[in-house]
Amino acid sequence: MSAIVRRFPCLKDNWGVLIHDSATGATACVDAPDGDVVVAAAREAGWTISQALVTHHHADHVQGLPAVKAAFPSVKILGPAKEAGKIGGLDATLREGDAVRVGALEGRVIETPGHTAGHIVFHFAGAGVAFVGDTLFTMGCGRVLETPLPVMWDSLTKLAALPAETIVHHGHDYDLANARFSRSVLPDDAAVTARAAEIEATKAKGGVMPPTTIGEELRANPFLRAADPAVASALGMASTAPSAVFVELRERKNRA
Ligand SMILES: [Zn+2]
Repeated sequence: MSAIVRRFPCLKDNWGVLIHDSATGATACVDAPDGDVVVAAAREAGWTISQALVTHHHADHVQGLPAVKAAFPSVKILGPAKEAGKIGGLDATLREGDAVRVGALEGRVIETPGHTAGHIVFHFAGAGVAFVGDTLFTMGCGRVLETPLPVMWDSLTKLAALPAETIVHHGHDYDLANARFSRSVLPDDAAVTARAAEIEATKAKGGVMPPTTIGEELRANPFLRAADPAVASALGMASTAPSAVFVELRERKNRA
């Protein structure tokens, strides 16, 4: 099994991404923020997009699908069953635990409600990569728009349970704002301070961070560490349930 993943900027701060199986030539885009850019990325690589994997219904993730379909008419569009009515044009709908195959690459669907009520994530265990849409970000997490806040915590705990070395592709480059917020809420945390400094130094040079990993986020993402007693204590919430610590962090970020 040999997966190649290509990531490229789209729109203002979205990431577009392609996963390619070199054994069979199959290629999937995950979401399509800008159809022209997604198509151009595939053509540049010499790949034909055979599938589009959709994480959630927001326009900046699905608006490029018609252009992808126009360029690659045989593309199959797969997306969350619970948002099929909002997305439209899905060739197949997906639920928790469903298998997704891109050539010989095997993925599994994880439902992660919170940012949207039907949001899904694609985990390719053999390739060691997860496409998490707007659920988990580098040092952050998505805004919780369509469910009660604790639902998002439950979704994040599912991602936290993936192997630490899993490479995480998320939907946006919010790295700098998330780094600053994380340092503001955990100013005395060594892992947060180091990671934030790394991001700030990269951004100061006009660079971008590489995709993150589950392990990196378990170390330095306050939201993913809501069950960490050190985080609860730093927020003045010692012995508080992790979901409540998460809610406090998310509400502070909303006000930031
Ligand atoms: Zn979104």
